[in-house]
Amino acid sequence: MVSTPSSSPDPQHQDVTEVDLVVVGAGPGGEALASGAAAGGLSVVVVDRHLVGGECPYYGCIPSKMMVRAADALAEASRAGTLAGDVAVTPSWTPVATRIRDEATTDWDDDIAVRRLEDAGATVHHGVGRLTGPRAVEVTLPDGSVMAYAARVGVVLNPGTRPAELPVAGLAGTPYWTNREAVQATGVPATLVVVGGGPIGCEMAQVFARFGARVTILQHGPRLLPGDEPEAGEMLADVLASEGLRVMTGADLREVAHADGTFTLTVDTGNDTGDDTGEGTETLHADQLLVAAGRTPNLDDLGLEAVGLDPASRTIEVDERMRATVDGEPVEGLWVVGDVTGKGAFTHVSMYQSGVALRDVLGQDGPAAAYHAVPHTTFTDPEVGGVGMTVRQAKDAGLRVRVGRTATETSSRGFTHGPGARGLITVVEDADRGVLVGATAAGPGGGEVLGLLALAVHAAVPVDTLRTMIYAYPTFHRAIETALGELAEE
Ligand SMILES: Cc1cc2nc3c(=O)[nH]c(=O)nc-3n(C[C@H](O)[C@H](O)[C@H](O)COP(=O)(O)OP(=O)(O)OC[C@H]3O[C@@H](n4cnc5c(N)ncnc54)[C@H](O)[C@@H]3O)c2cc1C
Repeated sequence: MVSTPSSSPDPQHQDVTEVDLVVVGAGPGGEALASGAAAGGLSVVVVDRHLVGGECPYYGCIPSKMMVRAADALAEASRAGTLAGDVAVTPSWTPVATRIRDEATTDWDDDIAVRRLEDAGATVHHGVGRLTGPRAVEVTLPDGSVMAYAARVGVVLNPGTRPAELPVAGLAGTPYWTNREAVQATGVPATLVVVGGGPIGCEMAQVFARFGARVTILQHGPRLLPGDEPEAGEMLADVLASEGLRVMTGADLREVAHADGTFTLTVDTGNDTGDDTGEGTETLHADQLLVAAGRTPNLDDLGLEAVGLDPASRTIEVDERMRATVDGEPVEGLWVVGDVTGKGAFTHVSMYQSGVALRDVLGQDGPAAAYHAVPHTTFTDPEVGGVGMTVRQAKDAGLRVRVGRTATETSSRGFTHGPGARGLITVVEDADRGVLVGATAAGPGGGEVLGLLALAVHAAVPVDTLRTMIYAYPTFHRAIETALGELAEE
């Protein structure tokens, strides 16, 4: 139960409200944890500076997957000619914008999420939360007033990330998009440059291209999807090029100007001739610029220094019970979940961690957090799913590695599928243990095919067992059997 006021552990404040738990930042993990803790009988205060639910439902996973679904529908319609007869479709962004506004985000309003938490018994503040000491949080409300809380059990941090601001000359002050503006778009720009060839950049680039934008992707590194197997990023670049996108790898955005509704971009193409001829740079013009080049953790104004943590760090170290640690020692009464733990910036990781932390908060036993089988999917077409280690990561970890690869478009299912069947399976075996430690499944439904591989990595199913199971014919997942048959030392 909330008791107010009481004697204060913080002499600056007259009124300190005592509760059991304060959750600062209500991303997917924080929201779930707060709800579970309230259901478990704790008095819980939740603080979010923006929207309860975090990035995923309002600016991330949900609206972007609505965009992807729409763009995939267009792509399938365009493939119908080969398969079933011509389908005439006039692309319109209106249904996409409407679904996102009305169905996904209720016009970027979190009333429903707030009510859900309140119904569970939690108190919710829209405000900025800040640690002022161990188990102590100050909340600055929109009207400037400040509330102080002392948390008997402790504090959970789930502050998430925001789009990184690139230190590129001229960029600040231009009306460029991040993911936040892109999901609120009410129309499609005629030309779009996307900075960043990671999952968010690739998904958005393909979506807007399928709706008619002429799209260029600028990727700093040598290939798209740098966190995945190289062959996956290369295949995706190939597919995107075949759909008319321009993919520039090894490209650095140097300067941005914006005038009369047009962005002018100076791009270092990585082909520097060493003279001042201007070769090695290229000038691009675009109606819109989308910057999807990394995320900045919201750790700078959380008051981390008040509990001995570094506010300038990119992540907060946590132990296997999601307790923050300093020099390997847990900080009593402080749990952290979500992107800022550095264990995978995905909603499912935030939710998984919230379950682990909730058990600890409630004093319950349960399995410790383990990250050897974190899955992820990039929802491009083809989808690119990955789990566990890449070949490079497995080798860097000192494992004796055997790798099996196959293309899915040459499988029976790929053959019958026809257009849009590009894909691949890569399996990475720890040869000494005889188990998979990583895998990639790209192709139609790649994220679904990944499920089987994620289970194999998670449960360390022996490769011999995977080889003897029966794979339904003709499915995309049957290509896993082919890839296993190709396992060879690398
Ligand atoms: C375009 C896009 C697409 C994505 N697609 C996927 C996907 O398909 N699948 C997937 O798994 N992941 C996806 N992600 C990632 C996913 O959104 C995040 O991993 C997920 O939201 C989990 O983040 P989190 O729990 O760390 O917190 P967040 O969701 O970032 O939420 C943190 C919350 O804390 C609040 N906050 C921060 N500081 C304070 C403070 N001091 N006081 C009070 N409140 C504060 C913020 O307002 C925010 O509401 C996507 C992300 C983006 C941007």
